Amino acid sequence: MSGAAYYVCPRCGRPIDYLERRVLRSKGRDGKVREHIYFYAWHYARGLDGKVIFEHGKPKLERKCYLGPAEYTYASGLHAALGLQLKGLIEEVVEGRPRIIDYLDSIAKAIEDKMANVQMSAYTAQQLADRLQELADRLRQYAEERARAEKRVEATQDAKAKEAP
Ligand SMILES: [Zn+2]
Repeated sequence: MSGAAYYVCPRCGRPIDYLERRVLRSKGRDGKVREHIYFYAWHYARGLDGKVIFEHGKPKLERKCYLGPAEYTYASGLHAALGLQLKGLIEEVVEGRPRIIDYLDSIAKAIEDKMANVQMSAYTAQQLADRLQELADRLRQYAEERARAEKRVEATQDAKAKEAP
């Protein structure tokens, strides 16, 4: 695991131990066979020492989170909205690029444009700067805490890999 990307489950926030890709085939009314691909995040049970608990030689499964389909074919109402949400979750896991970075990029661009065209008052600019400063401080603190937690998990996974024959 060391060196590999570290994925956090977008459903429950735990590290993903295994990403299951499940393929289901179904025959539509038109007689065509369609493939549906679904993703599940597996979380293994861990002891107080952070090590994975094994049962009958297999890691003990504590929780499985449904992450949604690889693509969504239904296009109506609630299904479409739900599909979009699930698509976002799976993108975050598989592509490793949180969509929130895209949101932030578009907000940053909007602010840059306002500044370039002098469309923002000093008051608004100051307010924005204060808000962003606060957010940046909290983000940095969060990043340091997460980095420490992720290092602990990687260390236990490395140790586990060395124990394996
Ligand atoms: Zn989860």
